[in-house]
Amino acid sequence: MSKPGTTKPAARWQPRVVAGKRAAAASGPTTEMTGWGSYPVVRGRELRSENLEAITRGAVLTRGLARAYGDASLPPPGEHTVAASPLADRLLSFDRSTGRVRVEAGFPLMRLNRLSLPRGWFTPVTPGTHFVTVGGMVASDIHGKNHHVAGCFGEHVTALKMRVAEGSVIECGDGDHELFRATLGGMGLTGHILEVEFQMSRVPTPWIWEESEQLDCFEKVLERLEEAGRDWPFTVCWSDFLVTGERAGRALLNKGRWATAEEAPAGEPKWRSAPTLPFYLPSWALQTWMMRIGNWLNYSYHGPAVRRHITHPETFFYPLDVIREWNRVYGRRGFTQHQAVLPAPHTHRRHEQYLRLLHDNRAKVFLSVVKDCGEEGKGMISFPKRGVSYALDIPIDNDTQKIVDRLNDFVVAEGGRIYLAKDAFTRPEHFRAMDPRLEKWNELRRRWDPDCRLRSALSVRVLGDPA
Ligand SMILES: Cc1cc2nc3c(=O)[nH]c(=O)nc-3n(C[C@H](O)[C@H](O)[C@H](O)COP(=O)(O)OP(=O)(O)OC[C@H]3O[C@@H](n4cnc5c(N)ncnc54)[C@H](O)[C@@H]3O)c2cc1C
Repeated sequence: MSKPGTTKPAARWQPRVVAGKRAAAASGPTTEMTGWGSYPVVRGRELRSENLEAITRGAVLTRGLARAYGDASLPPPGEHTVAASPLADRLLSFDRSTGRVRVEAGFPLMRLNRLSLPRGWFTPVTPGTHFVTVGGMVASDIHGKNHHVAGCFGEHVTALKMRVAEGSVIECGDGDHELFRATLGGMGLTGHILEVEFQMSRVPTPWIWEESEQLDCFEKVLERLEEAGRDWPFTVCWSDFLVTGERAGRALLNKGRWATAEEAPAGEPKWRSAPTLPFYLPSWALQTWMMRIGNWLNYSYHGPAVRRHITHPETFFYPLDVIREWNRVYGRRGFTQHQAVLPAPHTHRRHEQYLRLLHDNRAKVFLSVVKDCGEEGKGMISFPKRGVSYALDIPIDNDTQKIVDRLNDFVVAEGGRIYLAKDAFTRPEHFRAMDPRLEKWNELRRRWDPDCRLRSALSVRVLGDPA
């Protein structure tokens, strides 16, 4: 990979733990682990080392920065050992002329952005937070505000180095390996990802040109989202599903593209250092009426006029990262995100019916993001398919399982599917009914891992793996 103009290897970022010392901890104490939604909580051992390959030996799973909401990054119940990648965070090569990058799996997106943007490159696809690892982006096959034009992250990955269940380390590439396609979106269940090579996107400037508008009803949301996708590479709607009546689902639509040299300010964008919410609020602290007011303020403050301006890519892509550990506002009881894609066309009545279903079930949707999805990609069980994606943040209470069940009944009936990286409540029968691709993926998984060594709390819950 090393070529003229290539950075290799980059400076190390944090104090490291010696692999051998940590490996000894495999028989050490267990800790409680959670994902971003703080639910469920699973007890297990987490090994951290700059030598990811060493600590994956005997681990049931590898996890990154635990930004998956539910149990995807958690070990199965039974105090199992997982490998954590964040110390394996070296940049292995970066060809500035072609934008081809190779990193260790624990390399964080935030650092990638800070390194690449001043050099005229940006990740081809980004999730709504930059506190994720590149390994986690591959395993979830993440999608962004540009799915309708760029597909998932996996479309841009050219090679993976993996440790497979029986212990060997292999390199697999785009096109030559079924395992490669099964690993994109495979939630860490097909092997431990050690290194990732991918293609960055050229950007004309490091600034974003953004346009936003108010949409006062859900019909307009669906209509304008689709229209905007024809002209804009990045689109997203922040909808209000707490408001009822004619205004239900009203939203702010954000559209963006990279600013041209003529539009962009002279300097480089300055990266912010976000404050951290230092503790969990009590679980009762966040009430529906507060969110109603918050949503109303947000919507009204924008005003009816279309707004246009140059903005920082961090503000545009990662508005929620403005406070670190913001998930703690939900308290220790936590929250879940139900993210489902319902098939196109946008004009189909299933979208309005979905909104009605949320209201009929009094779902407490505190935050909701509506996005366009383009065609399915290479990932054998990746989430997106052509249609509309609804990401709904719901605080956990006694009704959560019931609400998720009802939403999933609807998703199954309408030919949609849910995103495992956000899920904590979907039942196996629902997931099987949503995804006919599952059988083939499972077969391949069993071929590479006949003894089911690789598993997670999610794979036990949804796929029926042994604990
Ligand atoms: C605020 C917020 C916004 C988000 N927005 C989006 C979005 O817009 N689009 C989207 O697609 N997702 C989104 N996500 C989800 C998030 O991007 C993904 O879950 C991402 O994969 C998390 O990366 P991570 O490093 O934290 O991985 P973890 O959460 O630690 O792990 C996620 C999965 O990847 C597996 N994994 C991680 N590293 C490895 C490895 N080295 N080898 C094998 N398997 C591995 C884990 O086993 C687990 O199954 C968002 C999450 C948050 C918190």
